[in-house]
Amino acid sequence: MTLENIVWVYQLKKKMLVAVLSLFLFGSLVAAASVFIMLPSALLKNSESMTQELSDTILTTLRYLMMRHEQGVMQSIFDALSDDKDTISTAFIINSRGRIVYSTDKAEVGTVLDHFKEKSCIICHDNKNKPPSQKTVMIKNMRGDKVFRNISIILNDSVCHACHPKEAVINGKIIIDRPLKNTEAIIRRVEIIILGFGAVCLILVIASLTKVINKYIFEILKQHHEITLLYSLIERLSKTIDVEELKIIVIDIIRETINADKVIIVLPRENRQYRAYIKEAGKDKLIRTNVQQNETLIKLIDEWHEGNLDGIRMSRDKKEIYMGIRKNDKLLALIVCQKFIGRFNEKVQGIVSAISSHIVIAFENAYLYKLAITDELTGLYTQRHFRYIIEREFINLPMYKDGISLVMIDIDNFKKVNDTYGHVAGDMVIKGVANHIRNTIRDNDMSFRYGGEEFTVLLSSTDIERGCRIADRIRKNIENAVFEDGTLSLKVTISVGVANCPKNADTVRELIINADNALYEAKRLGKNVVIRGEVKTNGS
Ligand code: GH3
Ligand code: MG
Ligand code: MG
Repeated sequence: MTLENIVWVYQLKKKMLVAVLSLFLFGSLVAAASVFIMLPSALLKNSESMTQELSDTILTTLRYLMMRHEQGVMQSIFDALSDDKDTISTAFIINSRGRIVYSTDKAEVGTVLDHFKEKSCIICHDNKNKPPSQKTVMIKNMRGDKVFRNISIILNDSVCHACHPKEAVINGKIIIDRPLKNTEAIIRRVEIIILGFGAVCLILVIASLTKVINKYIFEILKQHHEITLLYSLIERLSKTIDVEELKIIVIDIIRETINADKVIIVLPRENRQYRAYIKEAGKDKLIRTNVQQNETLIKLIDEWHEGNLDGIRMSRDKKEIYMGIRKNDKLLALIVCQKFIGRFNEKVQGIVSAISSHIVIAFENAYLYKLAITDELTGLYTQRHFRYIIEREFINLPMYKDGISLVMIDIDNFKKVNDTYGHVAGDMVIKGVANHIRNTIRDNDMSFRYGGEEFTVLLSSTDIERGCRIADRIRKNIENAVFEDGTLSLKVTISVGVANCPKNADTVRELIINADNALYEAKRLGKNVVIRGEVKTNGS
């Protein structure tokens, strides 16, 4: 799987972040909007009623002073009010003719206001015929500052008649301006606090959300990696059913997945014989070793036989992992993983068990395939497999410097063996001859039971001379061999035909015919000989 396959995880992350942030922003906006609208109006209302209260208090005080005929103190009250400009910026009393009689600004005393011209007065005196009512309004004063202005009428009631003529309804008005700058400053401050708090919350939400999402993405990617790994392992394992190729793939897979310093695979051969293949970290070569000389391996194989190494087992010091694979009673493979530096951690066991079932299946398939291509009596490959292998070898032919040599073997006078000693004895001889053939050739060369008592050996990258030498070695070994089954001791000879491609033939068919003809010639010449095939007419 490629990186494009996991892009969706990041797209999902983006979508989740956008969704949650939109929700958060929407909620914050609703909350901020309601606070922004409600808070200023509440604060202004409060300021307005405070202006009213202030005005009432001052008016009561002034009426009291007037009743006590203490007009002289009145201006000093206004002087005192002018000290605190934050509470009252201006306060003055105008009489019924618009003349300022007392004021926090002494210089204004005596000034006559034309309430139809004065900007701050026009707000209330917009209608010439209708006198203004007592109220509190928000205006810009003469200096241009925003204020709450309270206008209270000083009525000419009975207590005033001692000094004021009875005819007039009102004696004047008291006007008080309360500045709004403090209230506005509080509103600004609250707005800044809300915005700042919102921003901090937003950052915290983004940070914690990203952290949580990243945690899940890490988990998803980890699982994705494990699945991808497993998928690629299964793909690699399913590439072959040949046990020889499989062992190399399995060794590589195990080394890559669990980082083992050394991996050993033990494969069973005939008659409780074993062959071990070892691969160490940093070394390219796969080493084949003799199990008989390795005491540790012998011990492990014994345990495996007894069924104590089936499945996965980790050594107590966590430096080795064993995996015994068997199908029913048939031992298929024993895998030993070793760590030189450090130990395997517990997680490794999980990974090994995840891949082990696939390794087991791969070895089982390889085993079943081997059964299908192996002759039951001799343990050699079948004729059908011979046809498959020889075709495959012809594809590889350009890589072989000396071509391919085919050795065809037929037991001499075999009918006589059957006739004289019976078929069971004949089978014993066929099996014995097959063993001699297998033990005489190299591991890479392949031997087949071609027919009843006929065998073939395929020698890759072997010229005709060497092919004949190997054939003669087989012939001599069999000539010297005695085949025994406890009661009988039999001796046989073989006749052999050898042909080489490209020396004697160009095609598979020609090579088989040429070797067969040479074998026929060997029989004709008196048997127990090796005859090389005729050189093809255009050959060298
Ligand atoms: P030659 O030297 O010319 O080869 O003589 P031969 O007697 O060996 O003749 P041939 O190769 O034709 O004989 C093959 C015999 O092998 C015939 C058959 O009875 C016997 N045979 C074939 N398959 C088996 C088998 O699986 N077991 C036994 N016991 N005999 C077999
Ligand atoms: Mg024959
Ligand atoms: Mg024969």
